Amino acid sequence: MGFFQVLKQLFGLNKSAVANDGSNIKQQQFVGTRFTNSKEMDMQEGMTKLEESTCPYCGFQFDKPLSRKRACPDCKRNIYVRTLPFDNELDKTRVAVTEEQAENIDIAWAKKNGTYEELIKEKKNFEKMKKSLEKSWGKEPSTSDIEWHLLIEERLEHANNNQWGLYRNTTLRMAEHLYRLESYDLSLRTYLEVLYLDLNGPKNAGKINGQYHLGKHEKVFDPQGFAFVAPGIIKRIVLLKNKRIPTNDKQVKTLFIENGEQIYHALQLPLSPSLAWSNFEADNLFWGNQS
Ligand SMILES: [Zn+2]
Repeated sequence: MGFFQVLKQLFGLNKSAVANDGSNIKQQQFVGTRFTNSKEMDMQEGMTKLEESTCPYCGFQFDKPLSRKRACPDCKRNIYVRTLPFDNELDKTRVAVTEEQAENIDIAWAKKNGTYEELIKEKKNFEKMKKSLEKSWGKEPSTSDIEWHLLIEERLEHANNNQWGLYRNTTLRMAEHLYRLESYDLSLRTYLEVLYLDLNGPKNAGKINGQYHLGKHEKVFDPQGFAFVAPGIIKRIVLLKNKRIPTNDKQVKTLFIENGEQIYHALQLPLSPSLAWSNFEADNLFWGNQS
């Protein structure tokens, strides 16, 4: 299974909207067979196997094996969970590590996967954004703030390059970000924006001589050829409207159309929000009607 196929499986994405890869080392751990024979990383001092249930900083003993990032109740520091780089699935070792060790493992994975340069670039962008926000706000931004502003910046770059499939993917990451922050109202609006973009069939401009380029008759949005509805997006919208911020279907439609109007004009999309919505309903993909 290829790398993009794995990502597609993970994200449930259509082929016209391949995920912007490289940002999440954890996802790349699934692609074990692609690895070259570079040297494996060994257990280092302080690292503990998950089943040992021990804090890598202070040795605090947990009742249960660790399974994800958490703070130690004793020394209060963050414990990270990683998989050590391996060539053979049998050598796969999951470890509880310190923040510094987690970074080293991420770097080792990136080198193994050939995404090291990308990782370094991301780290640099992160630091740059941190400094710039700190300067304008007069206080240190949170990691979440930095991530949010990086997403905004990234989306703008995709728009400038006519990379509308990637623009759509970044919009999705913004919706997910808002969901994690429990900003459910904004998250719902952003998921509806993704749906609206998808119904318009977003495309990416190709790159020629280092420049993003559209063919003479090529359109950036192609609702006839490229429109799609991603089940994962619908699932999330349903969860939001049914559980997180109870919203009836009529209200969701109004939200879609009101929100969509601005996007329609700003991005000069081929389908108006009303038309996009009726295509969506006509395709019988609408979740409503059952209530
Ligand atoms: Zn501890």
